[in-house]
Amino acid sequence: MRFSALKILKEGLTGNRGWAPHWRDPAPKPEYDAVIIGGGGHGLSTAYYLAKNHGMTNIAVLEKGYLGGGNVGRNTTIVRANYGLPGNSEFYSHSLELWEGLEQDLNYNVMHSQRGIINLFHSDGSRDAAARRANAMVNQGDDAILLDRDGVRKLLPYLNYDQERFPIRGGLYHPRGGTARHDAVAWGYARGADQRGVDLIQNCEVTGIDIEAGKVVGVQTSRGVIKARKVGMVVAGRSGQVAAMAGMRLPIESHVLQAFVTEGLKPCVDHVVTFGMGHFYISQSDKGGLVFGGDIDFYASYAQRGNLPTAEHVIEAGVTLMPMIGKAKLLRSWGGIMDMSPDGSPIIDRTDIDGLFVNTGWCYGGFKAVPASGWCMAHLMATGQPHEVATRYRLDRFETGRGLMDEEGTGAQHNLH
Ligand SMILES: Cc1cc2nc3c(=O)[nH]c(=O)nc-3n(C[C@H](O)[C@H](O)[C@H](O)COP(=O)(O)OP(=O)(O)OC[C@H]3O[C@@H](n4cnc5c(N)ncnc54)[C@H](O)[C@@H]3O)c2cc1C
Repeated sequence: MRFSALKILKEGLTGNRGWAPHWRDPAPKPEYDAVIIGGGGHGLSTAYYLAKNHGMTNIAVLEKGYLGGGNVGRNTTIVRANYGLPGNSEFYSHSLELWEGLEQDLNYNVMHSQRGIINLFHSDGSRDAAARRANAMVNQGDDAILLDRDGVRKLLPYLNYDQERFPIRGGLYHPRGGTARHDAVAWGYARGADQRGVDLIQNCEVTGIDIEAGKVVGVQTSRGVIKARKVGMVVAGRSGQVAAMAGMRLPIESHVLQAFVTEGLKPCVDHVVTFGMGHFYISQSDKGGLVFGGDIDFYASYAQRGNLPTAEHVIEAGVTLMPMIGKAKLLRSWGGIMDMSPDGSPIIDRTDIDGLFVNTGWCYGGFKAVPASGWCMAHLMATGQPHEVATRYRLDRFETGRGLMDEEGTGAQHNLH
């Protein structure tokens, strides 16, 4: 089934009876060429590109809950390519290019909206850092505009410019940045993978990884043993637990990140705005809710919910920056489990076990990475070689210290970035 304006019109006029399910519900086969553990954004995009780019179709995605029930359906939907360090710059740039063609590629409306992102700065030092980052972005071929205070005020007249602690001096504007509807991204990739023959198996928890003579041979699951020549661990916040099934200890800590949404309001926030000094960022969903968040909760946890002190901290910062949101009613808050790496940059790599691959360390920024992560993970699993935009995402950088990418300059403490 293909989506088109004509199809929507026809279904609208005939009682919407012609829509087919987006994907099948197959029973697991005893054996696959490759198995992906984790049906989040990265697992689904890996499966999609394995099938589409590399012709591997005898593959399965094993998801312990339902597709898109993890972080991919819990994030605040920001998509951007505003990284400053070699390694990250080219990867996120590639990802944004994939985003720009994603709806056509998937034949699916992921509501990608390039409404622009503005990172505010409040001091000479943070202006210099923003200018450096802007130069790095432009050198990479992405867009960046340094705005002064009046420039920001023209775009965001509703901010409080003269707050005592963090008066606004300007902003780094990334016009091609924006948002996309998170769960539609999971559904679009799932549908595209299924159409190419990938088995998407829900309610199938991986409980063990079978290894013989240093080579992966399959997985144990809540639905039985499944043999596979290649296995990809793509489980975000559960990476440490799943890697432990293969006897590995990853340099990952799992932390909770919360998000919040208000009642629906008329359009008032046209961009994504980040207030790094205060730990607050915001955008407005297409339904009208103000979607916002802040920093991670400050302790490691597997609970998919956050604590009240962090909620208070985020809301205080929000009201400081945008007093008008004090009038909006908060509808919901929720949390997701972040796979925090020591340098804040991800890992897409082989492991010492033949045929076993790992994709993790996305921290709180892995939604925008979904297309490129799947693209590069699929390349690695199919060819055995890292893709050219992901060569630096090596696991051994944490062992050797070579090639660390401390994007935010916060050092090796997981909860500080
Ligand atoms: C509140 C919040 C806000 C965020 N905001 C942004 C943002 O604005 N922009 C951005 O770029 N990123 C953001 N992120 C980060 C982004 O959502 C994550 O980095 C990304 O979604 C992680 O990859 P994923 O989609 O594959 O993870 P997930 O969706 O979590 O997928 C992992 C899957 O693995 C499954 N799994 C785990 N263990 C097993 C097992 N043993 N067997 C089978 N399956 C298993 C889980 O059930 C889960 O479905 C945010 C995250 C949160 C929580």
